[in-house]
Amino acid sequence: MRTLITGGTVLSATGASAADVLVEDEKVAAIVSPGFVETADTVLDASGKYVLPGGIDAHTHLEMPFGGTQSADTFATGTEAAAWGGTTTIIDFAVQAKGTTLTATMDRWHEKADGNCAVDYGFHLIVSDVNDTTLKDMETCVDRGVSSFKMFMAYPGVFYSTDGEILRAMRKAADTGSTIMMHAENGIAIDELVAQALAEGRTDPLQHGLTRPPALEGEATSRAIALAQVTGAPLYIVHLSAAEALTAVAAARDDGRNVFAETCPQYLYLSIADLARPGFEGAKYVASPPLREKHHQADLWRGLRTNDLSVVSTDHCPFCFKEQKELGRGDFSRIPNGIPGVEHRMDLLHQGVVAGEISLARWVEACSTTPARMFGLYPRKGVLAPGADADIVIYDPTARQTLSARTHHMNVDYSAYEGFEIMGKVETVLSRGKVVVSPSGFGGTSGHGRFLARDLCQYLN
Ligand SMILES: [Zn+2]
Repeated sequence: MRTLITGGTVLSATGASAADVLVEDEKVAAIVSPGFVETADTVLDASGKYVLPGGIDAHTHLEMPFGGTQSADTFATGTEAAAWGGTTTIIDFAVQAKGTTLTATMDRWHEKADGNCAVDYGFHLIVSDVNDTTLKDMETCVDRGVSSFKMFMAYPGVFYSTDGEILRAMRKAADTGSTIMMHAENGIAIDELVAQALAEGRTDPLQHGLTRPPALEGEATSRAIALAQVTGAPLYIVHLSAAEALTAVAAARDDGRNVFAETCPQYLYLSIADLARPGFEGAKYVASPPLREKHHQADLWRGLRTNDLSVVSTDHCPFCFKEQKELGRGDFSRIPNGIPGVEHRMDLLHQGVVAGEISLARWVEACSTTPARMFGLYPRKGVLAPGADADIVIYDPTARQTLSARTHHMNVDYSAYEGFEIMGKVETVLSRGKVVVSPSGFGGTSGHGRFLARDLCQYLN
């Protein structure tokens, strides 16, 4: 079965060229001069369009248990929404509950995802219970293709690890070559600020932002970098939101350390003003770290250009406004944390190209090629080249769309980007050679997506 994509502009992390893409079964067979191959079983006309490697979202939370409820997208709905938005691989977080093992956690997440995903998927593991068994199991996880472990300096009593526990896990990460992903906020100090706010009767969603100041993200980021330096563990800061944290990451990278960071579209486009929306509307924007003052956005865009921020992921963690976000009426600390976004990452970052913040090549690099290399999926994913999986997006850069909960495909009752006008739109998406999204709609199936056993990070020095 041969598919030929003709007439488009093929994008990569290094630039753009006029070329045709030949797909054979599930793989890219060749990138050729326009017209060089004349026939195929299926021909897709990409004239005037971009042809790029499918997006890789390295940070999602599907069916994630949270305080008696769970995030609103299942592996089926979340991966379908991802496909609609040009993301053909997700890496989701399997969550270790205290008192359970990492291997049992991994098994549980395989059960949830297996047979349900529309696109390919991998896992990271959230480590919340550091003990001898956990440390031993980290080796097994790496052997089974889960090569990155997330830890929390926030959320005392839930996911929080002490510096000592982080140090132990980092030693094991250094031994195995695996990556420690860090939620870097000083949760002990934050909990005190939250308690003070509630005691003073400050209960509205804006308080979520005010009780998690940027300085406490900067401090935790610096501390994580120091712990990584002491242990030799590769470190990846998740959802970096504040200029203070970016400064710490940039200094470590200038020093030649194995320190990396991602940011998310919400920190590039939304701000603490959204948390202050009247009524309880601000709850829609509650996530941690919180949305920041607008001036941080220019720093984050600069960080993306300079590669101090290497990856853009979504931290997709959808909770419906009705009945889920509403759990926090009268007490902002009870609002489920998370913003939906898996469907809109490629579009929102393309908007950064339109606005002149990043280049086309950087768009592809930050959204696809670098996450593939960062998490051991390259060159199977993240590039259009012979032998790579045929995960391909045909993108119309001149189409216009307005983001809205009425038209999105995520299983959540609001959009954090309601009314955003976007230049550019996904037209067609192939997942391992199969057309899953086309102008006539969704043509994928739950169960098409396969588990990806990942290698180690490919950037380590
Ligand atoms: Zn997250």
